[in-house]
Amino acid sequence: MGTIGENIRLINEEKNRIAASVAGNAEHPVLLVAVTKTRTPEEINEAIDAGITDIGENKVQEVVDKFDHVKPVRWHLIGHLQTNKVKYIIDKVCMIHSVDSMKLAKEIDRRAQQHGLTMDILIQVNAAQEESKFGITTGETKQLILDILEQCPNIRIRGLMHIAPFAENPEDVRVYFRQVKELYEECGRIQHPHLDFAYLSMGMSHDFGVAIEEGSNLIRVGTSIFGERDYSKKKEKGN
Ligand SMILES: *Cc1c(COP(=O)(O)O)cnc(C)c1O
Repeated sequence: MGTIGENIRLINEEKNRIAASVAGNAEHPVLLVAVTKTRTPEEINEAIDAGITDIGENKVQEVVDKFDHVKPVRWHLIGHLQTNKVKYIIDKVCMIHSVDSMKLAKEIDRRAQQHGLTMDILIQVNAAQEESKFGITTGETKQLILDILEQCPNIRIRGLMHIAPFAENPEDVRVYFRQVKELYEECGRIQHPHLDFAYLSMGMSHDFGVAIEEGSNLIRVGTSIFGERDYSKKKEKGN
């Protein structure tokens, strides 16, 4: 692995090359969201200095702990969000990628209203119907969107998010990316002032190439930027 800055440059080159090959004319900008879970503010600031504009955290606690120590950047909440924790991040993140229930949407709506803001969200789709993953099935997605539009005036729905099952060969999950892209096209046609589809959030370190080929325009990349995560670090410190 190179430095954080070198890794970011290589990923940017690769994503732009793949995106250009898909669209044929580079009319397919792909946003790189650097996934910073387990990373220190110092590492995150290094990534920001190297050009990162958007970062993704999957835990509310990490957003809260790091928020004041990281340079100005757009924060994305990309992991499962418990209803009782919405209040801690509602004024900190620019978009919540993991909305998969009406209960969660209603709490986001309520907190957004209290802060006088409109929250951008993505609907998390579990296309492979993996039990271990959060997200709503493809069949239920459109109805959830319609319900949110009807009942949550402080939410704007910006698109869909998908986490593919882990596969040694990312070709094996191409079918799921394709399904979610089709759903994205279909749901994006809904006419409503609070529906403005602009983001199809699919692809991580090991599968973002295939995801972009299938239409992703937002990739969430951690390991390829910062290296392997060491989840044991915190515990050791506590000893
Ligand atoms: C950790 C995480 C990623 C990034 O995974 P890498 O394999 O490290 O690139 C992307 N999306 C979500 C939701 C994550 O939790």
